Amino acid sequence: MAALIEAIKKELESYQVLSVKEVTLIVGRLTNLGAEQLEFAFEVMSRNSILEGSKLVIEEEDIIVECKCGYEGPVENVEFGEDSHYSVPNLSCPVCGSAVSIITGRSCCVKCLDIEEAG
Ligand SMILES: [Zn+2]
Repeated sequence: MAALIEAIKKELESYQVLSVKEVTLIVGRLTNLGAEQLEFAFEVMSRNSILEGSKLVIEEEDIIVECKCGYEGPVENVEFGEDSHYSVPNLSCPVCGSAVSIITGRSCCVKCLDIEEAG
């Protein structure tokens, strides 16, 4: 999250920004980052910066996987253990049960920034 905030600030340096109204993030379900957690981190880290007072919008990205049997789509029963904050759960193909490759669901990036420019 800290790296993300830095990236946003850097991005904003290239504009004549008066204020930031809204920041939209894409957060994959596989990141296991809770919206509340992110909002809290955002609030703390945006203090005394151009981002202070802006609204954080979080869009969840679904998990899509790809299997060697040809299956491509969501997986069922993605379970995060209580203690698995930083680990990725084991995902298997709902068709054949093999291990799958993750296509989407791990993102954590800025989708768009709603800013007010000077001039
Ligand atoms: Zn499969």
